[in-house]
Amino acid sequence: MPSQSVVAIAKENLIPSASREDFNALESQPNFGEQRFKVYTAKQLDQIPQLNLLTEQQRFDMKVVANVLPFRVNEYVINELIDWSNIPEDPIYQLTFPQREMLAPELFDRVAKAMNEEDKDTLNQVIREVRGALNPHPAGQMEHNIPTLDNEIVQGVQHKYRETVLFFPSSGQVCHSYCTFCFRWAQFVGDKDLKIAARESGQLQSYLRAHPEVTDVLVTGGDPLVMKTKNLRAYLEPLLSPEFDHIRTIRIGSKALTFWPQRFVTDNDADDLLRLFEEVQAAGKHLALMAHYNHWRELEPAIAREAIKRVRSTGAQIRAQGPLLAHINDDAGVWARLWQTQVELGIIPYYMFVERDTGARHYFEVPLIKAWKIYQEAMQQVSGIARTARGPSMSSHPGKIEIQGVTEINGEKVIALRMIQGRNPDWVQKPFFASYDESATWLNHLKPAFGKDKFFFEES
Ligand SMILES: *Cc1c(COP(=O)(O)O)cnc(C)c1O
Ligand code: SF4
Repeated sequence: MPSQSVVAIAKENLIPSASREDFNALESQPNFGEQRFKVYTAKQLDQIPQLNLLTEQQRFDMKVVANVLPFRVNEYVINELIDWSNIPEDPIYQLTFPQREMLAPELFDRVAKAMNEEDKDTLNQVIREVRGALNPHPAGQMEHNIPTLDNEIVQGVQHKYRETVLFFPSSGQVCHSYCTFCFRWAQFVGDKDLKIAARESGQLQSYLRAHPEVTDVLVTGGDPLVMKTKNLRAYLEPLLSPEFDHIRTIRIGSKALTFWPQRFVTDNDADDLLRLFEEVQAAGKHLALMAHYNHWRELEPAIAREAIKRVRSTGAQIRAQGPLLAHINDDAGVWARLWQTQVELGIIPYYMFVERDTGARHYFEVPLIKAWKIYQEAMQQVSGIARTARGPSMSSHPGKIEIQGVTEINGEKVIALRMIQGRNPDWVQKPFFASYDESATWLNHLKPAFGKDKFFFEES
């Protein structure tokens, strides 16, 4: 349930549907019809007609979970992406609609009881406590990575890896729909202290001026493409001036190609967005749309493909990344088809992530060894062209750690790992080993192999 302020930001920035006149002007395009952006939040669950397929009890269960984890889904997702003849198993339904088992039974019962019996204040207190129990800020997001300039915190910026600065524009902290597994969920559920957001782009520019070692700016959220183009332009255009020549790549992290492809096709500032992409490249920089995909089904609708085509026509590159998740895509065939389809549509597979240790992770988590097997089997089904996704990768405190596989060294069964991004640049690409452990789902479950008591990055 987003806070008032987040809702207000969303209202102000979400793009109204293209008017009939705008639409008629785009004569050369296939006819996608006029589409209005209509979104449902937790309070409006009962207004989603398709949920009448559920029992009263199932709808109540959904409301319990939606009280804790973010819920927001738009009509395009409901009508075009979810196969309602296949719920609850449908992967896009699992991706967007809360399920009872996403909360551990004791947490579920606490919230359910409070909803049935308690006054609003007590309910809100219970919800806060339950959220607090779900590790809202994994990998030290709040304490670490927050840079300073002249001894002051730079709002809305995270700088963990030398080359790349993350920027969270304050008006891009929602998404066109929410993913049930989102590791950024704490940003959406309305606790102002928890929200990481930028005051304005001036601070970002000052920081980048002082940091010539930074080559990449990754604009992220939420989803920065919920912003109108003119707002996004206000952040990006200043970075095109010569003083920011050290910024070679601008990345935009987004799931709009899945959740609202109209953003690139029929929204009334869609063309302007594409012009902005062109301008970034005309200034000599690489523009990468870091697209979040979880399932090949997201690539099926004609408008999703048209959106990809239009982005590609600007010269921007689309790179795809997403986590491996139980109930959604823990299947090698799904990944092989996802990667193969991406390649055919001109998208470069980039990362397969391990689900992070936050929120509903117990529901979605896949043991590291099983994750690697899925990755390996998927790789074996595609040609080298589609084998560009690194992973499975854990975004942990020391860095991004890739599971390379299971092997045996001097009779000891071990997991081979590699640090593909490191808090310390000297760590990048270092291989290392952990003891074999079939049930481990995250780095903190792993023990160094060969009787060592520390991994190399834990030594001081
Ligand atoms: C993944 C990530 C990046 C980008 O890493 P690349 O390997 O260059 O894609 C930057 N900052 C943070 C905090 C990240 O997690
Ligand atoms: S699109 Fe990304 S930021 Fe938005 S809810 Fe999904 S995972 Fe979270």
